[in-house]
Amino acid sequence: MNRIKTFVTAIAATATVGFSVSALAAEKSDELVVYSARKEHLIKPLFDLYTQKTGTKFRYITDKPGPLMARLEAEGKASPADLLITVDAGNLWQASNKGLLQAIESNTLKANIPSHLRDPNNTWYGLSVRARTLVYAGDRVKEKELSSYEDLAGPEWKGRLCLRTSKKVYNQSLVATMVERMGEPKAEEVVKGWVANLAAPVFSNDTKAMKAVAAGQCDVTIVNTYYFGRLQKKNPDTNLKLFWANQDSSGVHVNVSGAGVTRHAKHPEAAQKFLEWLSTPEAQSVFADENMEYAANPAVKPSQQVADWGNFRQDDLNVSSAGQLQATAIKLMDRVRYN
Ligand code: FE
Repeated sequence: MNRIKTFVTAIAATATVGFSVSALAAEKSDELVVYSARKEHLIKPLFDLYTQKTGTKFRYITDKPGPLMARLEAEGKASPADLLITVDAGNLWQASNKGLLQAIESNTLKANIPSHLRDPNNTWYGLSVRARTLVYAGDRVKEKELSSYEDLAGPEWKGRLCLRTSKKVYNQSLVATMVERMGEPKAEEVVKGWVANLAAPVFSNDTKAMKAVAAGQCDVTIVNTYYFGRLQKKNPDTNLKLFWANQDSSGVHVNVSGAGVTRHAKHPEAAQKFLEWLSTPEAQSVFADENMEYAANPAVKPSQQVADWGNFRQDDLNVSSAGQLQATAIKLMDRVRYN
């Protein structure tokens, strides 16, 4: 009874509930239970398609990554969840590190997902790629003035840079990979340079940072390209342009949204099959296109709007660095007062 009570309480506390208390029956049924930090409108089309194809039904909840992981941890063996879907390799790494996921040996997943986009221990797999790169004012900045993330620390960008807060995992992941690439002292110097160049206090999200560039408050910022895509859709005449950073060096910083089979999955085989299907071209284009991202499977082409931004070379550093060095990155940003 206690276990049931805990589960009911947890459900009541969850932001978006894709199934009701009757989901308790899911533990005994063949339905796959998914905990997703990816929003409902991004994942439901995939569940529906898979149900059509295979008859497998789903129950799911959506919430932010932190609460979902806390919930998995609290539920322990009693958890009804089979699969965790979340954004950012930092979060996937945390889930794995807390022992919430199990290793999946799958030749399909290994063939479909490049090795830098999945856990070296096979507990999670990247399913879409999000590129974090530079967006600049096309009417005030010449493309040739731009080169890399590091370059934005230079004196020529004094008072011209806008950044999103360091509290967001996206920037923690970016700085973590910089630490991995160039070492902590050099990365710290760069981030210190960024802070010295800020034209305004840090913004709460990528869209606000881009709007500040559009309005002339600053000339350049660093964002995930799908936010640029949304802004471009709303305002096709925007003065903002994308620039692919670090093409002569490390490549564009990429991150993933991805998934793993939970440690206490009640249907581990069915969960693995669904995860494998998510890596196939059929599912990959839905997974990526719904949010203007890139498929993790390199055989899948991006949507037309995304393809129009041009090709780029991505950083091939394993994205798990974002998790491994997250604490180091947070401390580093704190030291140089990047808020
Ligand atoms: Fe986002």
